[in-house]
Amino acid sequence: MFSRNSRGRTPGRGVGANRFGRPTFRTKRKRPAAQELDFTQFVKKAIQTTETEVFNPKHRFADFEMHSKLKANVAACGYIHPTPIQDGAIPHILESRDVIGVANTGTGKTAAFLLPLIHKTFKHRTEKVLIVVPTRELALQIEEELRKFSAGSGLHSALCIGGAHMGNQLKSLSRNPSFVIGTPGRLKDLIERGKLHLAEFNNVVLDEVDRMLDMGFIQDIKYLVALLKTPRQSLFFSATMPREIAELAKKFANDPVTITIKSRATAENVDQDIVRVMPREEKIEVLHNLLLQPALHKVLIFGRTKHGVEKLAHRLVERGFSADSIHGDKSQAQRARALRRFKNDELAILVATDVAARGLDIPDVTHVINYELPENYEDYIHRIGRTGRASKKGTALTFVD
Ligand code: ADP
Ligand code: MG
Repeated sequence: MFSRNSRGRTPGRGVGANRFGRPTFRTKRKRPAAQELDFTQFVKKAIQTTETEVFNPKHRFADFEMHSKLKANVAACGYIHPTPIQDGAIPHILESRDVIGVANTGTGKTAAFLLPLIHKTFKHRTEKVLIVVPTRELALQIEEELRKFSAGSGLHSALCIGGAHMGNQLKSLSRNPSFVIGTPGRLKDLIERGKLHLAEFNNVVLDEVDRMLDMGFIQDIKYLVALLKTPRQSLFFSATMPREIAELAKKFANDPVTITIKSRATAENVDQDIVRVMPREEKIEVLHNLLLQPALHKVLIFGRTKHGVEKLAHRLVERGFSADSIHGDKSQAQRARALRRFKNDELAILVATDVAARGLDIPDVTHVINYELPENYEDYIHRIGRTGRASKKGTALTFVD
């Protein structure tokens, strides 16, 4: 995770360091300073969902030519109808086409690539799938879904993420896993140590590609993809499709089908308002009073820096709130634990840096609070997209002083 200081402040010709301290080339456009954000963007009423917005999928999960065991597991997860991206992408992936899938956050992209790939590995045990994601949390989340969908099949997977013990990862790699899910830095490490051989992988998924680009992983991705087996099946999933990604996908994919779901912006489910902090007021007091309101059941609070987030979580705990934090200075075990407790409603408040803003699926977050402003409007949309998921209504409150 980049703190504010390490992001966009690097001098020179776009050369930076990724979050593992390795130099990367930044192709990212310059980010506007927070001051340039227009506060009126943070005020918006949620649009009431009407029945006309009900999506009519072309397929049912039962219609897909997938292994019966897999279908049974999908049904056990409570999935009845595919989401638009699943409806659009799954048939093509099952036909072994390369696919570029663009759909909003929270629209079920994970199952869109996991289900057909699991089917493929069920059919041919020699298939090997590499899934590259920008953050550790996302890797964990995907592995969790993979476990659910492949329950009872004996399918092996390996999670290769930074901040976690190498020993366990080496052990799971030695079991010849069908799926390897990882973040770019750790994957590269394992390859350089000779523990991971990408030449055996004939399937690749790049998930949350826009985020990987933001985090300066583009060179790492090119490095990884170049090592894969050919021919292979390549899948790209992203919430947005900036030009750099389209070019990357065109270069690495073979005659890809592009599925773009023009759904309502996730943010339309979210009531958005600002919280003004008056000159004499203490920001923390304003937050405290807000958090006492009964409607704020499950609250995700965003700060900008690791240090600020850590401090805020401490102050809230001191004030008797049930809070914890996730940010890049915590160990992977601490991050996973805080996230798990928040997901399971054992914690009411999670304070996070933007690492939690993309991709994470936390059920029933009632409120997102931007205690500190996001760096730009795009980050804002990703932050508030953590609430109002699965057509529920959410609230986003942004502090401005
Ligand atoms: P994305 O990657 O597009 O942000 P996710 O794959 O994380 O979205 O899915 C968001 C949520 O929707 C998850 O909780 C997932 O379990 C749920 N979900 C996905 N597909 C379906 C479906 N077909 N039916 C019901 N729930 C689904
Ligand atoms: Mg996702």
